[in-house]
Amino acid sequence: MKNTGPHVFDLPKRVVIGGDILHTLPNIIDDLHLGRRVFIVTGPNIRKIVGEGVANSLSNKNYLVELGTVRSTHIDEVEKIKDEVTAFKPTLIIGLGGGKSIDTAKYISSKTGIPFISVPTAASHDGIASPFASIRGIGRVTSAKASPPVAIIADIKVIAKAPHRLLLAGAGDLIGKLTAVLDWRLAHKLKGDYYGDYAASLSLLSAKHVLSFSKMISAGGLDAIRIVIEGLISASVAMCIAGSTRPASGSEHLFSHALDVVANYPALHGEQVAVGTIMMSYLHGRNWRKIRRIVKNLGLPTTAKELGVKDVDVVKALTMAHAIRPERYTILGESGLTWEAAEKLAKITGVIN
Ligand SMILES: [Zn+2]
Repeated sequence: MKNTGPHVFDLPKRVVIGGDILHTLPNIIDDLHLGRRVFIVTGPNIRKIVGEGVANSLSNKNYLVELGTVRSTHIDEVEKIKDEVTAFKPTLIIGLGGGKSIDTAKYISSKTGIPFISVPTAASHDGIASPFASIRGIGRVTSAKASPPVAIIADIKVIAKAPHRLLLAGAGDLIGKLTAVLDWRLAHKLKGDYYGDYAASLSLLSAKHVLSFSKMISAGGLDAIRIVIEGLISASVAMCIAGSTRPASGSEHLFSHALDVVANYPALHGEQVAVGTIMMSYLHGRNWRKIRRIVKNLGLPTTAKELGVKDVDVVKALTMAHAIRPERYTILGESGLTWEAAEKLAKITGVIN
């Protein structure tokens, strides 16, 4: 089938990565003509550490600023912040913090049409720049389509203050692109799903970057942060181009989401994705041993025990994973893994004993 219809996507207008760059925020807002009423969505800790400083620097430049504090991404909580936003009538929303703040800002931005700037304070997953928001409590679909940020401001010195574990999780989320792209190709071949080679290549590149620089990433520091942040932004741009999370999320993500259901969010998203990638690489007939070695050397978990779950939880999650997003075809097939196959997979790859 030849597709000659228009393929339309939005991209962020500006990406700024560097040290000590948050003070340039007023200039960026000015340059992009984003108005003078700014609502900052942030978390309780980041509010104290960075949020109030950013709010003051904007107020000093005659911006009208309001801060909203996010405690969870459950839809009820997100709707409360949305009410605060609509009452304030901002011209711009800033998502400042980790995944929760940025996902909330992104979701509210897409519902209200008010542009948003992503200011990540951790490099823990690709939600920092993607056009999809993870909001809990809105059905089984794990991410809602939203607008991409109009700008991404990643201050690596601020991100350096976040725990090292978060950076490693970001690397784990990127390693997941290896199997996400394989699943995407499979769905294209077997089910005729739309597949874009450019978006797939861009996403794969971000994973390969992590593999090439794994030693540097495991050591941490500003260079490590820059590599992971660049990868996360590339993966996000790949999602913008594809118009779906396909280039960034396949069976390894389904496993992670299933484990969240089974064991109630036991570990960080990227940690679970990394373990999922080891197992799904085995199913795809790829060099799972190499991936496992890199995941281990990075300092990420490779076993159920290290994820803080029981062996049986991993097996259960594997058998459920295909049903998390039934419309998304992956190596897990339509009926998923049998209990025996799941157990065997987890044992062979060393995830369980
Ligand atoms: Zn992810």
